[in-house]
Amino acid sequence: MKILVVGSVAYDAVETPAGKRESQLGGAATYFSVSASYFTEVGMIGVVGEDFDPADIAMLQSHDIDTSGLVRADGKTFRWTGEYMEDVNTAVTLDTQLNVFGDFEPELSDTHANAPYLFLANIDPNLQLRVLDAMVARPKMVANDTMNLWIDIAKPVLTELISKVDTLLINEEEAKQLTGEDHLPDAANAITAMGPSSTVIKRGEYGVTLFGDNFSFAAPAYPIERVVDPTGAGDSFAGGFMGYLASVDKVDEESLRTAAIVGSTMASFAVEDFGLDRIKYLTYSDIAERFEAFVDLTRFNPLT
Ligand code: AMP
Repeated sequence: MKILVVGSVAYDAVETPAGKRESQLGGAATYFSVSASYFTEVGMIGVVGEDFDPADIAMLQSHDIDTSGLVRADGKTFRWTGEYMEDVNTAVTLDTQLNVFGDFEPELSDTHANAPYLFLANIDPNLQLRVLDAMVARPKMVANDTMNLWIDIAKPVLTELISKVDTLLINEEEAKQLTGEDHLPDAANAITAMGPSSTVIKRGEYGVTLFGDNFSFAAPAYPIERVVDPTGAGDSFAGGFMGYLASVDKVDEESLRTAAIVGSTMASFAVEDFGLDRIKYLTYSDIAERFEAFVDLTRFNPLT
């Protein structure tokens, strides 16, 4: 197993200008795993409730995702209700029900605990920290994501976690909230001072900016004709980003730049339909073709 991920596995109720879904498969770890599965072997740590549809487990397994760390507990699956009615870049959370995640104690097998890449997808930072602490050896790369809820209610433990990771992936607004800085480079510098050697700031339809060790890189978002559902764009980005790095087994500047474009490629697919309906059906040639479109989108000649 190349990448281990812990994070929410959810049923989401979502409303966007394109329509409404009452209960669709979602969760940060779910989007991440499906996206990363096109590049490398992924194992999930998480919990679902009695209501979790076996067909959803089968879908994950059809992507060769190791679900042995995804346990079923008494109670209901994590549930998030959100909408994007005012601004397609900003999810407004209407309700969050942790349900079975409320008292989940992760258990890692030897294979899980030796994974060389670890992604701490969005969930309670106490749980993210427990999984990091349970790794047998320090992975080659540890990255994490978070969101406003955890900055609001668990900032001290989140700060401790961030001090231990290599890369933080975070939305622009949340980077500003976390650091108290209004200007993006200042927020990135403040995050670097907290510990990570690189920070990926996600900016919705404006793309991402990567602040690395002595370099920065910006990737646009692919100009999609119709964004149907932005849910999972950030996690699908993370899956492509880290999936690519794990597949080349390098975390240097060139790999990080390419990974940012691979991540943007996967995010662009995620938003084209509700939930996982687009990214679960991709072929490698779909991905390669859109990656090439990104090369063209960002190509320019030197100034003569
Ligand atoms: P994003 O990639 O940021 O759009 O993430 C969307 C996913 O995050 C949804 O499928 C939700 O189930 C999940 N989510 C929403 N709120 C939380 C939370 N507080 N902790 C963990 N996951 C969440």
